[in-house]
Amino acid sequence: MNADRIIMPSNTYYKCICCGACCINKWQIHVDEKEKERFRDTDWNAVFERENPEMKSFIKDDVLEPLSGFIPPVSTPYIKFVSDFGYNFKTGPSGCVFLNQKKLCIMHSEKGFEYKSHTCKAFPIKVLYLPGNTIQVGLSFVCPGVINNSNEKVTEKQVLDLISDDNDRTYLSENLLFSRGLEIGFGDMLKINHFLSDFMFQKKNASHLFDQEYAAFDRAWTEAGSSIPFEDRLASSTVFIVALNKIALKLHSEDPQNFSKRFTAEISNPDAMLEMIKKCVQAVTQTTQLKKNFARMITTAVISLQQANVKGMLNYAKAFGIISNMIKYSTGWGKFYIKDFDFSFPISAHHASSADSEDPMVADLLEKYASHSIFRKRMFFDSGLLRGHQYIVLFHALARWFSKAFAIRAGRKSAVYDDYMMAIRFIEMEYAYHVRLLSVLESNSYFSKYFDPLFENVQVLKSLVRE
Ligand code: SF4
Ligand code: SF4
Repeated sequence: MNADRIIMPSNTYYKCICCGACCINKWQIHVDEKEKERFRDTDWNAVFERENPEMKSFIKDDVLEPLSGFIPPVSTPYIKFVSDFGYNFKTGPSGCVFLNQKKLCIMHSEKGFEYKSHTCKAFPIKVLYLPGNTIQVGLSFVCPGVINNSNEKVTEKQVLDLISDDNDRTYLSENLLFSRGLEIGFGDMLKINHFLSDFMFQKKNASHLFDQEYAAFDRAWTEAGSSIPFEDRLASSTVFIVALNKIALKLHSEDPQNFSKRFTAEISNPDAMLEMIKKCVQAVTQTTQLKKNFARMITTAVISLQQANVKGMLNYAKAFGIISNMIKYSTGWGKFYIKDFDFSFPISAHHASSADSEDPMVADLLEKYASHSIFRKRMFFDSGLLRGHQYIVLFHALARWFSKAFAIRAGRKSAVYDDYMMAIRFIEMEYAYHVRLLSVLESNSYFSKYFDPLFENVQVLKSLVRE
């Protein structure tokens, strides 16, 4: 397959540092029928006898097992999924059976890179198929090779090679959701993306989509963004998106036929957009934070949603878990358990620790992560720009929350770069990719009713991004 256009991430580089993190995760590595035939050409028992005899008991007679418990994502009018998987690689106690003690892939060393499954060859690159035969390239922040941001750019050849055997495609439609029931065109999304990138990020971190053709609107940064910390820029951009959504809803209700034309005109005037974001900045900077407990409770509720995502657990038990975590957090009493790390800590220790994102390295990491996420992730197409942006704010709050937890685990009183790095990797693994976890907000109108107004309240927003 060829592509007329490839949109690369302009500020994110990647070099595999062979850490094995992607293979240790016990992810399901899906395999299609064609790959299965290829993998069954090899006598893996003989290979494992030589390379990693301990794994033989996990392989038994086959390195593959039929896919079970996999629910394929459901296509919507805005996003179409095409995959054809029937198998997984088996896993042992330390992840994929092919991973050896040196954290290297036995399949890779035995048969070479090209032989591997598409899933393994692609990670951490994920492409989205856009209208007009355009490919949008994203990188996963689960991968330390991405977070390290070495000097190697993903090349167009790499992308073209990958899409030639891509067996897990995500196609996006011409239009996308702004908010529930309100569609905008892809070109309008780009305009908003460009403007927000100019406002929110230092030049080196502004990752515009279609960036080769876009000349940055520097005034958005010099007159509005540059004088406030990243947290306030993030809160201001959310106030901006909420305001833009209100304008769009008004235009649509006034004249649905001409909505698209009028909305495009509205966002095509950079001076007017600049005035609007300045007002949002003013609203954020002039607002004081809420009392601490409230923002903590929201973050804890979101964390508990992930923890409650346990199969077979009754709904009332899940609800009890969520509420008890929220009470513990607001009162500072008791312990919090992070099941993925089998680690618990006193809530009071979390309250006493700090997550100083003023450290230039930490600030740079947080900016880079956000700039690489905004309007690039599948969640913007699944859930709409407004909800997708709310998720970015939540991920930022979670990054601060988990960085403190990882600092406590390491015996530190305040979070440092490494804690933030772990936190972002964890969020990407547990929340950002598996955004269906949060889709309770989409599917449950009761939750939405309380969730949306939180993001319209500047005090709440400011507390969320800073707490
Ligand atoms: S997580 Fe990234 S850096 Fe580590 S082995 Fe996988 S691709 Fe390489
Ligand atoms: S097959 Fe190799 S690259 Fe793929 S998950 Fe297993 S160890 Fe990692």
